[in-house]
Amino acid sequence: MNSYQITGFSRPLELRCTEVPEPKGAEVLVRIERAGVCHSDLHIWHGYFDLGGGKRFEMTDRMTLPFTLGHEIVGEVIAVGPDAEGTKVGQKGIVHPWIGCGDCYACNAGEELRCAKPRTVGTRRNGGYSDHVLVPDGRYIVPYGDIEPGLAATCACSGLTAYSALKKLPRMTSEESLLVIGAGGVGLACVGLAGAVTDAKVIVSDIAESKRAAALEQGASAAVDGSAANGKAEILKAAGGRPPRCAIDFVGSPQTLRLALDSVDAGGTVISVGLYGGELPISTALLPLRHVTLRGSYVGTLEELRELVAIMQKRQVKSVPITTRPMSEVNAIIADLEAGRFVGRTVMVP
Ligand SMILES: [Zn+2]
Ligand SMILES: [Zn+2]
Repeated sequence: MNSYQITGFSRPLELRCTEVPEPKGAEVLVRIERAGVCHSDLHIWHGYFDLGGGKRFEMTDRMTLPFTLGHEIVGEVIAVGPDAEGTKVGQKGIVHPWIGCGDCYACNAGEELRCAKPRTVGTRRNGGYSDHVLVPDGRYIVPYGDIEPGLAATCACSGLTAYSALKKLPRMTSEESLLVIGAGGVGLACVGLAGAVTDAKVIVSDIAESKRAAALEQGASAAVDGSAANGKAEILKAAGGRPPRCAIDFVGSPQTLRLALDSVDAGGTVISVGLYGGELPISTALLPLRHVTLRGSYVGTLEELRELVAIMQKRQVKSVPITTRPMSEVNAIIADLEAGRFVGRTVMVP
C-alpha cells in the first residue's frame, strides 16, 4: 500500500510503499476513500504541542517513524480479522479514530477518551494519509448513509469536536448568545451545527476577513474581529447589549481564551477546544466572583459520532466548505494549512 509518511519531524512527508497489512483478532482493514487534513496533524508533524511557559508536550518519543498521519477517514471494509463481529466486507463507514486500550477502568466504563494508553488512529497508530488503514475493531466503523463522503470524513474530527463542545454548553434561549472564537474548519462546523443543539444566537470572532465572511455564510448572526481594539464592544453590540452567555474557543491561544473569559456574562461558560498553545494567568478571585465555568473539551466519543451522523442525515446542517485534492499534493496542502490559506476543510483522495 502507498502511504505518505513522516520520516523526520517537520520534513516533507515521504511516499512509501509497504505490504497491505492483514487484519488480526477483531481488526478490520479499510480501503480509504477520503482522508481529511486537520490542524493537529501539523503539531504532530512538528513533533510537539506548545504547553506554554517554554514547556512542550513532546510527540517525538511517543512515535516510531516512519509514521502515517490522518484521523479523518472514510472508506470501505475490505477484510476482517477472525474475531471481528458484526462488521462485513463491503461495509462503508467513517473510522472513529479516538480509540482507547480497551482494557482499563476508563475503557471498561465506555469512556475511552480518558484512557491513558490510547490507540488513536493517525496519532498513535498509522492513519489515513494512505490508501489503506487497519482499525483495531469493526465497532469503530460508523455508517454514514448518503452524507457526501468528504463531509463524512470531516465528521471524525472537526465535526465531532464541534458537536462535543456544543453538547457541553448549558441550555440557552434565543435571547442569549454564544460566542464562537475562530472560524477555521472546526469553528465553521460548530456554526453550522449550532442550530441543531442550541437556540442561542451565534456570534463569531476571527481575525481574518475571509473567515468572518465564511462564518456569516455558514449561518452566524454576526461576525466580528474580537482581537481589535474595540473587539469586546463589537461583541457586546452584536449580542444586543447583553454579554454572551457562553463562549467556545477553537483557537486556544492566551489571547483568545482571555477574550472568551472576558466576554462571557457572570455565570457564563467557556469551553476551551483549540490547541494553539501557550498559558494564561487567571484571577483566582474573579473566577468564583463571576461564577464562570471553564471547561476543556477534546474531540468526542463514539456515541457522539453516531449522534452527529444521525443529525447530519436529517440535513438540517450546513456543510463546511470542503476542498477535495489528490493525496499526492499532501505536502503542498500542509504548507497551505500552516500558512492559514484554507477556508473550511481540505479532504484528500488517495
Ligand atoms: Zn483533528
Ligand atoms: Zn484504556
